[in-house]
Amino acid sequence: MGRVVVVGSFNVDHVWRVAELPRPGETLSGEYRTGPGGKGFNQATAAARAGAATAFVCALGEDAGGQLARALATADGIDLRDLPGRAPTGTAGIYVGGDGRNSIVIGPGANAELSPAFVEGQGDAVAAAGAVLAQLESPVAAVETAFRLARAAGATTLLNPAPADALAPASLLALADIVTPNESEFAAQLRRHAGEAVAAEALGQLDDDALHAHCRRLLPHGTVVVTLGAQGCFVSHAGVCLRGDAHARYRVPAAPVRAVDTTGAGDAFNGALAASLALRPHAAFVEHVRYANRYAGLSTERPGAAAAMPRDAEVRARFG
Ligand code: ATP
Repeated sequence: MGRVVVVGSFNVDHVWRVAELPRPGETLSGEYRTGPGGKGFNQATAAARAGAATAFVCALGEDAGGQLARALATADGIDLRDLPGRAPTGTAGIYVGGDGRNSIVIGPGANAELSPAFVEGQGDAVAAAGAVLAQLESPVAAVETAFRLARAAGATTLLNPAPADALAPASLLALADIVTPNESEFAAQLRRHAGEAVAAEALGQLDDDALHAHCRRLLPHGTVVVTLGAQGCFVSHAGVCLRGDAHARYRVPAAPVRAVDTTGAGDAFNGALAASLALRPHAAFVEHVRYANRYAGLSTERPGAAAAMPRDAEVRARFG
């Protein structure tokens, strides 16, 4: 059975739907809901529901948020490897305006306490994994430890460099086999690492040669998958092939879906990509990306993030 380790964040999301995003000094009423979030947890849920035996390495508070994470992990069969923290469980305050735009404030809380030593202690899970997936909502030193262990064990490392304002240092990129930014994350990392001032909106207009050149600047040695929302994604490999792919660059169109809520689509994509790599290690890379597009596309037909992650059987029933 394919195994995935996700190293990342768990947050309790507090979400207010408001007509307009609040301005300084303003007090507004809005429709409130709370639920699980954090890119790490969303991606671990996606990997598990896509069929991989999934371990989730994270840090939680000894509070109601921590209990929620434990209950949800149990329900999805996720092997939770949590460092109990002194800080409260991570939180996110999210305002969603009537036009769909949002403003988010994250309180990392326990997530900031995830330590290299604790990750080191999860070496048994990493050694058994086909793929190790991480984001930038956890301390970089902890993620680097996981990737180093993964490299030593022969597992594929995937870095989702999100959120866009958290920049991946070169030392971390050097440990990543696959990097999966969306357009704004790609633009932010290019600015940092290649000194390229490319607007996120302009990336979608670039032709394949120009995009490929940018990908090669960001990650000379590995594979970059730029997710492009309803346009699917762009794949750029170093050299000619990786696992049987004949083309160094190509686009993979999004799945035909009726999107109602794209929150967490990127997380769905990453979790599914990691699961597919672990479950079908001999498949061509394009097949993994096609599966991740279908999985993420189906997730957009339902509201929410982790709650919207479909099961592998649903993806296959819908797309074959
Ligand atoms: P988010 O921040 O909303 O979680 P993201 O910006 O990180 O998402 P996107 O590039 O928007 O990531 O989407 C990730 C993947 O989800 C896409 O590559 C695609 O496969 C799928 N997807 C997103 N939006 C749509 C859509 N409208 N129709 C079909 N597929 C979609």
